[in-house]
Amino acid sequence: MRAQAVVVRSVADGPGLEEIEVDEPRHGEVLVRVAASGICGSDLHVVHGRSVIDAFPMVLGHEGAGVVEAVGSGVSSVAAGDHVVLALYGPCGECGACRTGRFVLCNGAARVAAISGRMADGSTRMRASSNNDAVFPMVGIGSLAELAVLRADQVVKVDANIPLDVICLAGCGVTTGLGAVFNVADVRAGETVAVVGCGGVGLNVVQGARIAGATTIVAVDTNPRKLALAEELGATHTVDPSASGVVDAVNRVVAGGVDAAFEVVGVPQLVAETFLATRPGGRCVMVGSPPAGEPIPIDGRALFGERRLLGTTGGSNVPARDIPRIASLYTDGRLDLDTLVSARRPLRDFAESIAETERGEVARSVVVMA
Ligand SMILES: [Zn+2]
Ligand SMILES: [Zn+2]
Repeated sequence: MRAQAVVVRSVADGPGLEEIEVDEPRHGEVLVRVAASGICGSDLHVVHGRSVIDAFPMVLGHEGAGVVEAVGSGVSSVAAGDHVVLALYGPCGECGACRTGRFVLCNGAARVAAISGRMADGSTRMRASSNNDAVFPMVGIGSLAELAVLRADQVVKVDANIPLDVICLAGCGVTTGLGAVFNVADVRAGETVAVVGCGGVGLNVVQGARIAGATTIVAVDTNPRKLALAEELGATHTVDPSASGVVDAVNRVVAGGVDAAFEVVGVPQLVAETFLATRPGGRCVMVGSPPAGEPIPIDGRALFGERRLLGTTGGSNVPARDIPRIASLYTDGRLDLDTLVSARRPLRDFAESIAETERGEVARSVVVMA
């Protein structure tokens, strides 16, 4: 089958629209007609060569939703016609971590291979039409394309009444933000929270904290537009840390520091400041992804106060558990995804979607395929 796809041949070439050939799904695989894909910070990292995800030529995109076109043998979780979200990190179910119920830490061959855009046996279902080169879908998804072939555990069914150009955000940004709150920090009703960085993911940390029942939610960002959105989505206070720094800005709202703080930017110095904006006994979740090899400059004495710095990948989500939860919260009107979609563009205008994401003008720019 032929499909249009956004392919990055190399960092120097940048992303371009190409025609690709897509194979039928094999055993345990699902062919999806992609309906929509959000642009996420991780896509920008790939484009600029800042990512460990570097299997080129790569079909870009990893925050998608669509409709199942066909399933391979052995697939019973979804069927043709089902509406699905394409999930990061489908656990293999077979490795040591999965067998002990720690799906988030799955290191099975299938999951490891997906990170480099391959199936467990090293193969790919995609080739460039122009020269027959194998192309590799980003983290096994490659959602900036009309068709995608994924392992069945990276595909989660959702109610067909939910708009696909909205629920696609559950593929990465929303899941990561809510997961950091529910799965990692375990925010409780009545707690105080600070969110440093209010882009697409940070806004979902704000929403997660609101849904969890946090009574004070301090949104921290230098961009007034993002702070306004944070307020709309549940922040009780908004602060710009430019003048005084994060610790002082948060302490002016919650003297002594918050119960739970989230760094959602990926800057080592900001992680350190966010950590120090927690009260003694508080916890800080590093949601952002700092550059490899750069230490986080935390004064060791801050640990005497039993503060905890918590790591996570993608909000420690388990797709089969967390994506249906997100879909219900949206359907119930408790999770606002519509406000997050600031722009919708056709596939041919993908470059503008990337550009406006880069300029920080949008919570999410969604590329709509058909
Ligand atoms: Zn992402
Ligand atoms: Zn596993």
